[in-house]
Order: sequence, then structure tokens, then C-alpha cells
Amino acid sequence: MYRLIWTEIEGSLTQNTKIDCYLTQHTKEIRINPILDNARKIWESMYRREQKSSHVVMEASLWNNLQVRIDNNLFKWGKWVNKGYYRIGDLFNEGKLLEFKKMQNKYQLTNEEWYRYIQLRSCLTKVPGIGISTQEKAQFMQVLEQIKGTAHIASKIYNFLINGFTLGVKTLQNIWCSDLNMELDEEEWLTLMRGMYKPLREAKLRLMQFKIINKIYWTPAKMHIVKLRSTKTCWNCDREDGDLIHMFWNCNQVKVFWKKVLKFCSKVLDREVPVDESLCLLHKNPWDIESDTHKDNFLWLILAIATAKRVICRHWKDKSGPNFTEWQKTLVEVAEYERTIYKLRDKLSTYEEIWEPFLSHLEGSVQQINGNED
Ligand SMILES: [Zn+2]
Repeated sequence: MYRLIWTEIEGSLTQNTKIDCYLTQHTKEIRINPILDNARKIWESMYRREQKSSHVVMEASLWNNLQVRIDNNLFKWGKWVNKGYYRIGDLFNEGKLLEFKKMQNKYQLTNEEWYRYIQLRSCLTKVPGIGISTQEKAQFMQVLEQIKGTAHIASKIYNFLINGFTLGVKTLQNIWCSDLNMELDEEEWLTLMRGMYKPLREAKLRLMQFKIINKIYWTPAKMHIVKLRSTKTCWNCDREDGDLIHMFWNCNQVKVFWKKVLKFCSKVLDREVPVDESLCLLHKNPWDIESDTHKDNFLWLILAIATAKRVICRHWKDKSGPNFTEWQKTLVEVAEYERTIYKLRDKLSTYEEIWEPFLSHLEGSVQQINGNED
């Protein structure tokens, strides 16, 4: 019977595996088949653009993977494949390798597979970069998930390839300088980038700042570019273009919120905190005096500002906009978290120097409110 040539390729691709897993497998068919060979090269270069290796991400194939070898050999265990193990991620939960018992429950592996599990565990622990660092999915994988099942997939992917990738350091500097209408030389920019995350200890805040700087957030404008939305107008005001700067800074309600927050910060620190976007978005120090009190003040200010951005994110789609009281409450939670860390390090006095102005100010305003109610 005559069969079209690609039906064979498709058949071989989907047999006992998932199609994207196949692209991180190294088998003879791939090497002799120019279509598969090219597909694999493109796949690898997509990851490289995001500084990741296609072979050590959670979605990579567990089998015949060049980076996952036992005694330097590639391997594939039919029994495990039949139970549904395809990807590295099938063995992990939140960056941690699953215990054998949990894997047994999930995929009904028999007790005899324990030895193989041990083999696999020891080989995976030797693969550099596997685990926590591979938790965050590649951007293009996130996009593929979002557009799955929608119309015009090819043009959406094409648009994304042109517009959507995380930007290089130099490009990033140029874009931010032009967005915020400021001038910074390369050294100043690098210093800013290096110091930006320092006060942020919580992973959520750090990730948020990373997403802002690299413009990874799916704002209405960005969704419009890849045709996920018909318009690029802001969710909140429904009037202006909802790009990242607008969503975090220029939108009317957001601006009102910032003014309130920064005015409160000025009162707490008893010094002028300017309503300045390079301070709020890039954590650029507005003061140039180098005393310890100033350093403490700045450290607290950045935590207060990062917390404000978290509150802004939470209310992107609410017409009510970000809420000042919610910001204060969230900042109290940050204070508690910080206190635990300083306590563990036996540095409670440093904690108090940094947080005392805020906490006593807050107490003052609570007393004032209670006083008014009496
Ligand atoms: Zn708006």
C-alpha cells in the first residue's frame, strides 16, 4: 500500500512518546532524517535564546537524552514509558525529585523498579542545572500552551518569535532609557542591574522584579501583538495602551496609588521620596548620600516599593485598582518575614533600625484611627 512520506514520520514521532519530547531524544532516525534533524536544531535554538538548554528542562525527554546518561550510555526503559514516564518533569514536583513511593502511587511502578529508580536518581543528581533552576518554563513553551487550540497558530508563533523574547542586556538598557526618558551609561546601568534584587529576599518579589525588567509580563499590549487580544487597551482604564510602563506606572489609578504610597514613605522616613518612575520600576536610588541610616532607609524603601508593585499586579484586572490599605497590610507581612530572618541571624537590632520607623508610624496611625472612633 502506498503511504505518504510524512505519515510515516508522524507515526514514528508519536509512537510511545510525546512529540516535543522526541526533539530532545537522540536516536538513529533523527540523525538520518533531515526534517527531524532540523526540527531538533530549531528546538534547541529556541531554548538557547532564553539561555536554557533544551535537554535539562522539565519538558525534556527522559529517554535517549544526551544529558541524562547512565554510565555514559543513552537509555530508554519500555516499562516506564508504558506507565506514562516521558519527561524529566514527570519525576519532579516543585523542583524536587519525587520519592519512589510517590512515583509508585502516581504511575503504578512495581517494587522491582526501585533499583532503576536509584540509578535514575543518581544520574539525575549529576546533571548540572536540573531541579530548581529548570522550574520556570521557557517563554515559548508558555506561549505554545496559551495558543493551543486557538485559530491562526502559525502566525501567532511567528509574531512571538519577532516580538516576544527576553531581551539582551544592551537592548534592555536602551529600551528602559528610552521608556523612562533617562540617560545612563553602561556602567551605571550594570550597577543598577546588580543592586536591583539585593533587598528582595522573597522569591516572589525577586521573580516579579525580573519579569518587570525583562518585560515578561503579559500586558494587554503584548497580548495584542501576538494576537491573543483584539485591542491593546489597558484592563483598568480601558482607554490607553496597556504596555508595561502604563500598567505599572502611568495608568490613572495606579498613579494615584503611587503618590499615596510614596507620600506615606516620605513621612515614615522623614525625608523626601520623589514620585519617580526610575526609583519605582528600576530601584534607582534617589539620594546620593552614603551614610548607614540612608542605606537602611533605602533598603526599606525598596521593599515597600516592590510590595506596592505586587499589589498593583494583583489588581490589574480590577476596575477598583490597587488599594493603599492592602499595601500596608502586605508590607506588615514582609516585615514579619524579614524579622524571622534577622532573628535567625541574630541581628534583631539591625531589623529594628530598618523597620522601626514604619512599624511605629503604623501604630501611630492605628491609634489615631481608634482615637477618632471613640
Ligand atoms: Zn490604564
